[in-house]
Amino acid sequence: MIELKNLTVTYQDEPALSDVSLTIREKAITGIIGPNGAGKSTLIKGMMDLVKKNSGVTTVNNQPLNNVRKNIAYVEQRNTIDLTFPIKVSETVLLGTFPKLGLFHRPKEKEKQKVIESLKQVKMEEFGNRQIGELSGGQLQRVFIARALAQEADIIFLDEPFVGIDMNSEKVIIDLLKKLRDEGKTIVVVHHDLSKVTTYFDDLIILNQELISYGPISKSFTTANIKAAYGDSMGDLMIKGVND
Ligand code: ADP
Ligand code: MG
Repeated sequence: MIELKNLTVTYQDEPALSDVSLTIREKAITGIIGPNGAGKSTLIKGMMDLVKKNSGVTTVNNQPLNNVRKNIAYVEQRNTIDLTFPIKVSETVLLGTFPKLGLFHRPKEKEKQKVIESLKQVKMEEFGNRQIGELSGGQLQRVFIARALAQEADIIFLDEPFVGIDMNSEKVIIDLLKKLRDEGKTIVVVHHDLSKVTTYFDDLIILNQELISYGPISKSFTTANIKAAYGDSMGDLMIKGVND
């Protein structure tokens, strides 16, 4: 179980997250939803200690974050990544093996095999020699997921992996995430719209600067919670599939 206590993040005096405490179940896919600017990216960065926090402590099975860091993979929101950097697909995925390899150890056959295996899992094995700047959005997302797989982490955070990608890539990714979940991985996915919530996620965190709810879809995905996050003016279309 991942446990977050009292996360507060303020950017230049503007609060982004106020006192968020929650738990995330292991071996499940948890979605994080909320409107634009709700603090979803800040929540996952804050949980991993990647932003300056006013307060907040994360533990994983009662262990401090620093003891388990190598076991956590993070697939960033794609718009934050520099695609002009000249690097091949295979090299990008190989980077995933570095945290466990340790400093000053060069990747060997085992790591190279891991790259091939990881690219196969996202159905990108043909693309190893491509420059990452020459991929479509969906292909690129799959490469970043392959990098997370190469890390052999038990916990994977993904920030908006389905934005701006083709339907085939979306299906490859969600099928893979479900398979990883079934193999015992803990998956956390930021997702900004409400479609697919019930088919993609087991648990749901709803956020708008403050925590609105978290827990199993059946408890969390309710009209009242969605309206609390997105406002009363949200059309009924948006809240189709809620549980009440
Ligand atoms: P979301 O991912 O839900 O769209 P973010 O976590 O990216 O939301 O941002 C939450 C709020 O914090 C937004 O109002 C955003 O403009 C602001 N914010 C995010 N990152 C920074 C930053 N580095 N500096 C200043 N403000 C930021
Ligand atoms: Mg975001």
